[in-house]
Amino acid sequence: MGSIIDVRSVTKRFGGFHAVDDCTLSIEKGSITGLIGPNGAGKTTLFNMVAGTYVPTSGQILLDGEDVTGLPAHELFNRGLLRTFQIAHEFSHMTVTENLMMVPAGQSGENLASVWLRPARVTQEEAEVRKKAEEVLDFLKITHVKNELAGNLSGGQKKLLELGRTMMVDAKVVLLDEIAAGVNRTLLNDLVSNIERLNQELGYTFFVIEHDMDMIARLCDPVIVMAAGSVMTEGHIEDIQKNEAVIEAYFGG
Ligand code: ADP
Repeated sequence: MGSIIDVRSVTKRFGGFHAVDDCTLSIEKGSITGLIGPNGAGKTTLFNMVAGTYVPTSGQILLDGEDVTGLPAHELFNRGLLRTFQIAHEFSHMTVTENLMMVPAGQSGENLASVWLRPARVTQEEAEVRKKAEEVLDFLKITHVKNELAGNLSGGQKKLLELGRTMMVDAKVVLLDEIAAGVNRTLLNDLVSNIERLNQELGYTFFVIEHDMDMIARLCDPVIVMAAGSVMTEGHIEDIQKNEAVIEAYFGG
């Protein structure tokens, strides 16, 4: 299918320190690719560059074959790349439906002049966005909380809402940070099955940083292992777990 993200010889230096060091990797279109590695390996820094939060010191990042090196997060968002889960982005004082309706970019309702000039168009767009929000709630099976204030949701429900936000813009590739953190087992199962359905039914690609190895094993194939700022190996989780160099990187002195 080809790659949707290509990281080519990317380095990020902080002062003299190479947090990411000549790192090259590709994320296959339609995959759920995991990124693991010991603390300090450079995973978060790499994610920050792919997501447009940090600009690489050198190297190139391609999204669907186009050079997007150094583009800010909102530009990447417009091109279908989203990052989610690390921070609770939800607006706690708004309902779940309203949170979903906030997402789509470029609605004419955002522009005051167009509200004045063409109210009918705004109303029609709002109706379309509301319909889309309802479809998303239905897909994720969280219609029962649609009128809840987002601030009242549990940790896991908030993560489902964040997945829903990515669906509002038909994201191509979603970067997930720490899916399992702070989520109870039942909701974790919902989250995992929804990620799998988004992948299988709607063709989403996921790139996942996760500390929970069970979660990685359930969800991710392939898994990329980073150590000391670059890729150590890549493959199926069963092979990775048997790899001596990986074991040494995790547990060695
Ligand atoms: P991981 O996510 O794999 O634990 P990080 O990407 O967070 O690794 O960090 C990689 C290395 O870069 C660590 O040694 C960390 O201390 C360093 N580092 C990360 N961010 C910064 C920063 N903003 N300034 C200086 N050093 C940083």
